[in-house]
Amino acid sequence: METPTPNRPLSDIWQCVRDRLRTDVGDAAYNSWLKQLELTNIHDDRVLMSVPTRFMRDWVVSHYAEKIRTAWSEEAGAEPQIDILVRPSGQSAPVLKNTLAETTTEKPVDQSLAEAGAPLDPRCTFENFVVGKANELAYAAAHRVAEADNVPFNPLYLYGGVGLGKTHLMHAIAWHIRQRDPTRRVIYLSAEKFMYQFIRSLRYKDVMQFKQLFRSVDVLMIDDVQFISGKDSTQEEFFHTFNALVDQNRQVIISGDRSPCNLDGMEERMRSRLGWGLVADIHQTDYELRIGILQSKVQHMGAKNVPQQVLEFLAHRITSNVRELEGALTRVLAYSNLVGRPITLETTQEVLRDLLRANDRRITIEDIQKRVAEHYNIRISEMHSARRARAVARPRQVAMYLAKQLTSRSLPEIGRKFGGRDHTTVMHAVKRIDELRQNDSTLSEDIDLLRRMLET
Ligand code: ADP
Ligand code: MG
Repeated sequence: METPTPNRPLSDIWQCVRDRLRTDVGDAAYNSWLKQLELTNIHDDRVLMSVPTRFMRDWVVSHYAEKIRTAWSEEAGAEPQIDILVRPSGQSAPVLKNTLAETTTEKPVDQSLAEAGAPLDPRCTFENFVVGKANELAYAAAHRVAEADNVPFNPLYLYGGVGLGKTHLMHAIAWHIRQRDPTRRVIYLSAEKFMYQFIRSLRYKDVMQFKQLFRSVDVLMIDDVQFISGKDSTQEEFFHTFNALVDQNRQVIISGDRSPCNLDGMEERMRSRLGWGLVADIHQTDYELRIGILQSKVQHMGAKNVPQQVLEFLAHRITSNVRELEGALTRVLAYSNLVGRPITLETTQEVLRDLLRANDRRITIEDIQKRVAEHYNIRISEMHSARRARAVARPRQVAMYLAKQLTSRSLPEIGRKFGGRDHTTVMHAVKRIDELRQNDSTLSEDIDLLRRMLET
């Protein structure tokens, strides 16, 4: 086997793969079935090849897939997934101009379709999507659509606030369908891009082509449909495209930032049509989901040494949406990486000061003291007192710990609120409780309970 050389031209590799195949299957079979096989695209760890007809594709897949895979891996030194597609008539492979190193970006399988659509983020798959109460319906619906051979509900309408995973789910559907059946024509694009292309087609007088293209797909996905509101001619065109596809039993998937009936500026008939299929909303995340998402990201990034305490802190404090949560984690990791310091609660708070302020839900230290005192059945004045008996000292430490986790107050500020204690006392309390929690499940449960009460 040759060593893979990243700058070896693809055309060279491809020629050698073909030679190997010819030797392997013999001239006759080669000329009948493999001569017309073309290299169409290379994308991440997938290699797309194409043949001119569906019949040929089925034959090649069932008789030669294994041989093609072997020839490829022997020649290129990698073992990608190989997909064989039917190419639209008259099209050839543009990909051969490149070298292996240059082809990691998406290159069209079907040029016009790919140009009309938007590229898909390789990270946005079902595997990378963490499911919780907030998004389980949307996830289940998306997964069903991606798995189905016929159309289970039409359209699927996903809605929710920004950064909650609508686009992620749509990309996941597209990836999944492409993988299951690469011959299905899937197009994903934003409503804005749809509008832009329609308007451009009006200007250049190729509305027919626009119509044909969008009506030839098997799966149409339009993201952020609220942006279509108000633009009359585009709305009209969208409506017709939508109806044409639904009538032909093609899957349509739409996302929006609000429910169909609340899409102001959208015509009544369109609003009602959008609600005909399955409408699934994504809610604000809860604490458990945020923790799950953080853990999954940490794992994917291969980041070690992120203390659980920091993840909990982020999950408690960055509640606006998943995008911000992700951004916060990335910032903390980048910072620790750059300055070469370990990630601690302190550095996290320092790095995210602005973000934390924006997400501050204004839990006050007084609230915390009151709740904790109630919970442990001690007087609230004990929070400020100098008494050191365990029965009051431990709850006081718990309150300090929660104050550090749930507010943006600095250690000296917290100290001051606890009867003018020194910041080192607060620091010690935070550390102590954190240690105790590891082995004391009652304490750990108390803290979770208090936290939950304070946050609702
Ligand atoms: P929206 O389109 O609803 O505004 P996105 O789909 O762009 O939101 O999500 C924002 C970011 O959060 C993306 O990076 C996405 O991968 C991530 N994300 C959202 N929800 C989840 C989830 N449940 N699990 C993992 N990542 C998520
Ligand atoms: Mg989006």
